[in-house]
Amino acid sequence: MNIQSDVSLQLLHTLRLKSQARALCTVSGTAELRTALAWARAEGLPPAVLGEGSNVVLPEYWETLVILQRIPGIEVLSQDGKSVRLRVGAGENWHAFVAWALGQGYFGLENLALIPGTVGAAPIQNIGAYGVEVASFVESVHGLVTVDAAEVTLSTADCQFGYRNSVFKGALRDEVIITAVDLRLSKQPSSQTGYPSLQAHLESAGIDSATPEQVFNAVMDIRRSKLPDPAVQPNAGSFFKNPVLDTAGANALRERFPDIPCYEQSDGSVKVAAAWLIDQCGWRGHRVRGVGVHSEHALVLVNDGGDSAQELLRLADAIAADVAAKFDIDLAIEPRVYL
Ligand code: FAD
Ligand code: NAP
Repeated sequence: MNIQSDVSLQLLHTLRLKSQARALCTVSGTAELRTALAWARAEGLPPAVLGEGSNVVLPEYWETLVILQRIPGIEVLSQDGKSVRLRVGAGENWHAFVAWALGQGYFGLENLALIPGTVGAAPIQNIGAYGVEVASFVESVHGLVTVDAAEVTLSTADCQFGYRNSVFKGALRDEVIITAVDLRLSKQPSSQTGYPSLQAHLESAGIDSATPEQVFNAVMDIRRSKLPDPAVQPNAGSFFKNPVLDTAGANALRERFPDIPCYEQSDGSVKVAAAWLIDQCGWRGHRVRGVGVHSEHALVLVNDGGDSAQELLRLADAIAADVAAKFDIDLAIEPRVYL
């Protein structure tokens, strides 16, 4: 196994911040992952996993063994007339897998098209977009326990999926390295088109009853028109989660701010659009010391050439402080911050 020392991570994560790892290796199988974990243990270095680095804020110097997760493979486990069960290697690219599944006639993931990153990272924050979350398709998650490389399989219930959340961000944070994900997809085409911007896009294209392919294409069109491409403007997607309030809290806010975009959830809670809160505080388009807030999308913080994680987090703190002062809401950062 090739383990490199003092490697720049700038091109290995989408925020493109200045960052260097003490050591780095790429794993394309479970045996290699075991070797990497044993090496890290022997060196007394904590291991840390990176997929495609689209949801992380990295430190300038990272005293760790970075393990680039690249385990490939898509295997059909079983199928019948209605559905198919797949095992997908954690290192597969998420969007390529979504496109492949659609091409095979395996449906359900179309709304999650173009989300950057790997399949193995998808359960970590229960990726979601346009009214769909990956949790609805995950049957189990396979991995190795970081401390002793023991194999582990977690059921959907074990994963404790929530809104952009899972056990991998809580009790099992850094405890398990995901090697494969089992998903069940439908062989019967059906489309989830209720999400407002998706519905509007399909309507404007004159599409009445959208096929999964049309949903897939519409989601890609909307995303390309709205979201900055990290290759052009480095970013980590939404920097803050949408706050979720109880009904009383949401009603109090609605009284003070009648225009506030609120979305009732099935459990009675109310989700508030964080982008609107940030916009109302005047942050959209703001640039400071090489970092900034995207001018089209106030939830996306961008690296504008400054390359400093500290500056980015200072900006995030200032935004969160303004939102707290104006709305009495605490914003939570979505990407994993390693500083
Ligand atoms: P990384 O950023 O490499 O890692 C993220 C975290 O997961 C790290 O803590 C890492 O250690 C851990 N991790 C990664 N792989 C493993 C593994 N195999 N085992 C254990 N831990 C692991 N997210 C959404 O939910 N919806 C969206 O619509 C969306 N849109 C985005 C748009 C843009 C432009 C960008 C830049 C990001 C967006 N994101 C979105 C966030 C991001 O795409 C997802 O969180 C994605 O799942 C991250 O995958 P990754 O491989 O890049 O993970
Ligand atoms: P949008 O459609 O402009 O909506 C703004 C926010 O309001 C979204 O974050 C969304 O929450 C919420 N919302 C809108 N309609 C809703 C509904 N009917 N029910 C519940 N919540 C609703 O959002 P956008 O920024 O263009 O993003 C589109 C989708 O892609 C969203 O699902 C978003 O989560 C996802 N996305 C995520 C990231 C990321 O990094 N996490 C980055 C880009 C886009 P939700 O976020 O819960 O959907």
